[in-house]
Amino acid sequence: MTISQNLGFPRIGERRELKKATEAYWKGDLDYAGLEATGAELRRANWAKQQAAGIDLIPSNDFSFYDQVLGLSCLLGNVPERFGWDGQNMNIDVAFDMARGTDGAIACEMTKWFDTNYHYLVPEFTKATSFKLAGSKIFEEFAEAKAQGITTKPVIVGPATYLSLGKVTDGSGLDKFALADELIGVYVEIAEKLAEQGAGWLQIDEPIFALDLNDAQRDVIRKAYDALSQVRGIKIMVANYFGRLGDNLELFTSLPVAALHVDGVRGVEEIKAVAARLDDEKYLSVGIVDGRNVWKTDLKRAMEALQPVHGAIGGNRLIVGPSCSLLHSPVTLRSERKLDDEFLNWLAFAEEKLDEIVFLANAMDNKIDKPMLAANSAAMADRAESARIHDEAVKQRAAAVTDADYKRFSSYPERAAKQRAKLNLPAFPTTTIGSFPQTAEVRKARAAHKRGDLSDADYEAFVEQQIADAVKMQEDMGFDMLVHGEFERNDMVEYFGEKLSGYAFTKFGWVQSYGSRYVKPPIIFGDVSRPEPMTVRWSKYAQSLTDKPMKGMLTGPVTMVQWAFVRDDQPRSETVKQVALAIRDEVVDLETAGLAAIQVDEAAFREGLPLRQSDWAEYLDWATASFRLTAGGVQDDTQVHTHMCYSEFNDIIEAIADMDADCISIETSRSQMELLDAFVKFDYPNEIGPGVYDIHSPRVPAKQEMIDLLKKATEVLPPERIWVNPDCGLKTRGWAEVEPALRHMVDAARELRGAKAA
Ligand code: GLN
Ligand code: ZN
Repeated sequence: MTISQNLGFPRIGERRELKKATEAYWKGDLDYAGLEATGAELRRANWAKQQAAGIDLIPSNDFSFYDQVLGLSCLLGNVPERFGWDGQNMNIDVAFDMARGTDGAIACEMTKWFDTNYHYLVPEFTKATSFKLAGSKIFEEFAEAKAQGITTKPVIVGPATYLSLGKVTDGSGLDKFALADELIGVYVEIAEKLAEQGAGWLQIDEPIFALDLNDAQRDVIRKAYDALSQVRGIKIMVANYFGRLGDNLELFTSLPVAALHVDGVRGVEEIKAVAARLDDEKYLSVGIVDGRNVWKTDLKRAMEALQPVHGAIGGNRLIVGPSCSLLHSPVTLRSERKLDDEFLNWLAFAEEKLDEIVFLANAMDNKIDKPMLAANSAAMADRAESARIHDEAVKQRAAAVTDADYKRFSSYPERAAKQRAKLNLPAFPTTTIGSFPQTAEVRKARAAHKRGDLSDADYEAFVEQQIADAVKMQEDMGFDMLVHGEFERNDMVEYFGEKLSGYAFTKFGWVQSYGSRYVKPPIIFGDVSRPEPMTVRWSKYAQSLTDKPMKGMLTGPVTMVQWAFVRDDQPRSETVKQVALAIRDEVVDLETAGLAAIQVDEAAFREGLPLRQSDWAEYLDWATASFRLTAGGVQDDTQVHTHMCYSEFNDIIEAIADMDADCISIETSRSQMELLDAFVKFDYPNEIGPGVYDIHSPRVPAKQEMIDLLKKATEVLPPERIWVNPDCGLKTRGWAEVEPALRHMVDAARELRGAKAA
């Protein structure tokens, strides 16, 4: 009989119970017992749901109060020295200290989990690192589920992935892969203990199989699974997800373990090849239900994809599951009220995906739930043909885009001359990245307006007053290029998504981003267009208050798509192109309204890079093209800016130059301008604003610090192409620190100008 499984279930709760409990615990409003009770109840409910859905292999240890990689560090006793752990008693406070920092110890670094928007705590390795079995959570949760009558399949991140994602932090030049032997020893111990407890299965996640692997990684993988295959009484399943196996396919299929899980969504073209290479004993789990998007699975198509695998290996060794853990999906559609029935009928969140998995496993054994299949086919047909999704005008416009649309009228040097003449800016012009502090007052007014408690007229007057104050402040300080402050925006994607056709928003569609921070990504379901101007009203008003140039402020097409659930019925590049055309209309309208400079933020440009380097060129090609398409409609003397709030540009600097923005602002202050390297080596041809004010910290930098940073920049960049700005937007900061910091920044630029004249 075909087996159904799940790789992981969202832990946040239907009503964000986890967030409420952890934050209350941090505040001291909830004690440890209370926190544990919430955790236990979430686990119980999740296991019960999966059991009720009919899932055969139900995961445990997928629960975490913060992050599963952090949880693994705790299980392995890998706690950085600065947290003063006693080496004996592992508890949740140790994990929270590592995640959030303490008075004496800065938090562990956090970074994106592969190409998702989930963040994990980066494991730290030093010369002193050693591993031992220090935690008991994985065993306790197995026992807890067993007491509930469910024999679960514990889940753990694998040793090769753990070492690969970690960082050597003591500058010792340690080869982290040399830690493998001891680490693998602990994994063996874990597997043995679970076997003793009666766990039939252990799922070990090794998503690094979706990356380009080096020899050291391949070595660890071989060693680890040779050792783990010796453990008796438990079946090891190695899971790859987030992409195809590619040239790792052979290594993967040769692992001496009981079962392999492949990503049957992104790697669908490989599943037959994997099945063909499988030896006679192995189980194959095919992740055919997309674990990280919100659309219903096309059950007929999924059956067709599974059929040949079933034919090749038979039902007894076939497992059907989600492509990856459902952690990356919202929890349930059950309480979703914001979307209408037609729309809801196109979607499947985590709970609904469980039903799809069970349906497909049964279908392989010829037990087809006919009403469910019929309803699914009808939903697929409805979505494929719905007038809400297909907008002929948008499709025709996208198809009619010409090469010329992707280009500004003249080259940068010609444009720069005209922009100089028009803008008449001093050397080292000063500006900011767009947003000003979102004070409680601003957030309150926006919320009241949304609820209907503040009339349109009152709200608009409020925002205008905020803008007027911000303009006056910038003029007083002596800024050269002003911004309106983005007071009307909740979020740089949501604001635009709400105004574009083709985007939808849920009420409860939360997914964990990190710790107690969850995001509710919009859903791009249809052809995207801009029914009417989105920002012109505010930018125009702001410009009317000053003779200085005002910079219009937009979010770029790659970011608009990257931070959303994206439709799966056309290539991502096509969706990005449609968004680019919509933003292009706004750019042109801003120009017409009298804005001489327009910034198109691409905060997620680098994040969109595919996991495998061989896929980069194609991505960079359409991603840069989409930026040029947004900017290609304006006159030479309109200055187009872009902003990227990070700094790893080395691999993609040519693509950044290829975007042909007149000016790019980047994050550089924390690295002391080191991050300019890429721009210098490559000889970046246009203007650059290297951030001189670290907005991630409440600290107010002194004028002299910023002068020093700028001097460093002038040593490597032509001074006439340098702008002076913070690292990023200021919306998360308070005025108390922003005001003095900006004054120091403007003064620093002034002083530098003097120095230059002298
Ligand atoms: N313009 C946006 C702001 O200032 C940019 C934010 C970002 O890049 N993350 O907030
Ligand atoms: Zn930024």
